[in-house]
Amino acid sequence: MRLILLGPPGAGKGTQAQLLMKRYGIPQLSTGDMLRASVKAGTPLGVEVKSIMESGALVPDDLIVRLISDRLGDSDCLNGFILDGFPRTEAQATSLDQMLSDRGISLDCVVSITVDQRALVDRIVGRFTCKSCGIGYHDTLNRPRVDGVCDACGGKEFFRREDDKAETVVARLTAYIQQTAPIIPYYKEKGRFAEVNGMGEIDVVQELIVNDLEGRSK
Ligand code: ADP
Ligand code: ADP
Ligand code: ZN
Repeated sequence: MRLILLGPPGAGKGTQAQLLMKRYGIPQLSTGDMLRASVKAGTPLGVEVKSIMESGALVPDDLIVRLISDRLGDSDCLNGFILDGFPRTEAQATSLDQMLSDRGISLDCVVSITVDQRALVDRIVGRFTCKSCGIGYHDTLNRPRVDGVCDACGGKEFFRREDDKAETVVARLTAYIQQTAPIIPYYKEKGRFAEVNGMGEIDVVQELIVNDLEGRSK
C-alpha cells in the first residue's frame, strides 16, 4: 500500500501514520522527522534548514525531494509506504509523480485529514513526543496511560518541538493554506482521493481512513 497523508500541521498525520504503519507493516516517511533528525545530528542539511523550520516556513523543494528520493530506494519501502508531510507544494507533487513513474509504481490513495483551525492550534501547542520511539502525545487530548511513561516503549523522556509554539503556528498554517492546500485539487482530479474528518477521537479517525483505504466507505 502506497499512500499520502495530507493535512495542516496538527491534523493528526503523524498519529495516524504510526497506527497505519503498525496495521500494514509499512514505513512512515515523515519529512519533518527526517529534517529534525538532520538538525539534531548537525549535518550540513540540518544546519541549512534549522532556522527555516523554526520560523514555520517550508524548506526548499530541491532539498526535500532529494531526501524522499533517497529514502524511497530503501528496501523497507518495497511493499509500500506512508508519506507524512510530503508533498507540500505543487513542485514536490510533480517530482513525486516522476519518482514513482521512474520506479514503475503508483499511489493507492491520497488521504486528506481536515480539522477546524482552532483545534489545530490546541493540538500543536499541547503536543509532545517520546524521545526513544517517536510516538506522539498531547497534554490533555492524548496523554500516556501512566503519567511520564510512554505507552509504546516504556520510555520516560519526552521532547517538545521548537516550532510548536503559538507564535510559529500562524506561519505554519499560512504556509499550508498558500502552498500545500492548492495541491488538493491536483490529487482530486487524479482519483483515489479521500477526505477524512479528523475531528473525532484518534481511533475513530483511524477507522475512517482504513474504511477508505479498503474501499468499504460511502
Ligand atoms: P501532524 O503530524 O498532522 O502535525 P500529530 O499527529 O502530531 O499531527 O497530532 C498533533 C497533536 O494532536 C498531537 O499531540 C496528537 O497527540 C494530537 N492528536 C492527534 N490526533 C488527534 C485526535 N484525533 N484527537 C485529539 N488529539 C489528537
Ligand atoms: P507538522 O507535523 O506540523 O505537519 P512537520 O513535522 O511535517 O510538521 O514539518 C515541520 C517543518 O519541517 C515544516 O514547518 C517545514 O519547515 C519542514 N518540512 C517538513 N516537510 C516539508 C516538506 N515536504 N516541504 C517543505 N518543508 C517541509
Ligand atoms: Zn516511546
